[in-house]
Amino acid sequence: MRPKELVPDVQSPYFCSLMANDHQRLQAIISHCKEYGFIFPSSEIYDGLSAVYDYGQYGSELKKNIRDYWWKHMTQLQDNIVGIDAAIFMHPTTWKASGHVDNFSDPMIDNKDSQKRYRVDHLIEGFADELEASGRKSEADALLAEMDKLLAASDFEGLKKLIEEKNIKCSVGGTANWSEVRQFNLMFSTQLGSVSEEASEIYLRPETAQGIFVNFLNVQKTGRLKIPFGIAQTGKAFRNEIVARQFIFRMREFEQMEMQFFIRPGTQKQWYEHWKEARMNWHLSLGISPDKFRFHDHVKLAHYADAACDIEYAFPMGFREVEGIHSRTDFDLKNHQEYSKKKLTYFDTELNQHYIPYVVETSIGLDRTILMVLSEAYLEEDLSTADKKDSRVVLKFPPKLAPIKLAILPLVKKDGLPEIAKEILASCRSRFRCFYEEKDTIGKRYRRMDAIGTPFSVTVDYQSAQDQTVTIRYRDSMKQERIPIDAIREIVEKQIL
Ligand code: ATP
Repeated sequence: MRPKELVPDVQSPYFCSLMANDHQRLQAIISHCKEYGFIFPSSEIYDGLSAVYDYGQYGSELKKNIRDYWWKHMTQLQDNIVGIDAAIFMHPTTWKASGHVDNFSDPMIDNKDSQKRYRVDHLIEGFADELEASGRKSEADALLAEMDKLLAASDFEGLKKLIEEKNIKCSVGGTANWSEVRQFNLMFSTQLGSVSEEASEIYLRPETAQGIFVNFLNVQKTGRLKIPFGIAQTGKAFRNEIVARQFIFRMREFEQMEMQFFIRPGTQKQWYEHWKEARMNWHLSLGISPDKFRFHDHVKLAHYADAACDIEYAFPMGFREVEGIHSRTDFDLKNHQEYSKKKLTYFDTELNQHYIPYVVETSIGLDRTILMVLSEAYLEEDLSTADKKDSRVVLKFPPKLAPIKLAILPLVKKDGLPEIAKEILASCRSRFRCFYEEKDTIGKRYRRMDAIGTPFSVTVDYQSAQDQTVTIRYRDSMKQERIPIDAIREIVEKQIL
């Protein structure tokens, strides 16, 4: 969703670096992710697949840690939220009932000369960004307000007229020769069953939420859950995004972490506010400064919602949605009841009443959260002194999210030092992810650990053999201190819980 109003904190060092090099910063993060085994373009040997990415050895650990952190907060630390894992494939009627077959589309426009297709809102937003960058902020704001109004009214003719009036041009062909504005469905479809059997068209789920709705009664009954309660799930979702760009921000295959909270009708406002606050607090618990976040209230509500907002984060390319909070009313359950002809009501023993619960959902993209965490963590530090030029690239992940928690580095490959280091490895590896390395100078090994965001490194040296101590080096401060081998585990564990 589009950022509503950018209110930059000009005092913030982040804002200054944004002004200077936001594009380069994103490019630097992308290159770093590839060079250090975080994220690769999918099937790269065949030149990749647009807007599809693979997570490498460190990226998959980071992804898992973020997913686990979300899962812990949304299930284990809650009294009344349970998790499920529904299939990606669902009965095709699911998507009819949810409204996705008829409504899951975006207004698109084609440039007749370049044949390039644009999402109308992205095209206009891009132009507004250009206006703002050239100091015409009030004009940009007026344009976006007008666009919101036209989108809310589904006024496609008006949108086309706006694009023509502003003489917005295609970035590829450079012309303003536009087609009519049309809707384009974002769902991928495929066939279930072999060709010889009666093939049936099904969809790859465009959101994980529907797996929760169709299991609502199964979970409620078998879990003996009382309203209010929630069901959480993480998993892949697929959207045939037209303008797929900005790295893992907008992908065609991505992962969502969603929670549907089932409530009494009439209490949705209160729960909507509750989850807005709770979810913002979760983001802040990652150690990110509050001025990097803001809420954006939706003007045009999705077909299922009676209130909705996004939590936006200041990505290197500007404030963009990372999570949506939606008050979905009883839209989904009511429709599933109608289409399936199965009762999906809940009996509220306190009210002595049957009703279809209302739902407030929180829906966050795992990949976008990864990009947020990477954008926060990535730092190029100048370490030059009077007599030596030096610098490092470091990922300052919160230790609980870092792919590797502890590097164990024997100073040399001989004289019993590797044996001591391996004993440390054996005592720590069942508790948290460790990395053992003997090659290269200690300085080079430290820099490699900085580049993948390892918060602690311990070096085993000749003194270790005599007094059972090691040197611990802290990634962020680069400070080093001598500690007993016995203390390593506790120091690390204290920081990663
Ligand atoms: P956008 O307006 O950016 O297309 P949306 O409002 O359609 O996003 P939702 O349907 O609310 O997104 O999905 C919930 C979350 O899923 C989003 O906040 C985002 O983090 C994530 N998400 C949605 N589409 C994508 C995508 N194509 N690639 C990566 N993450 C996505």
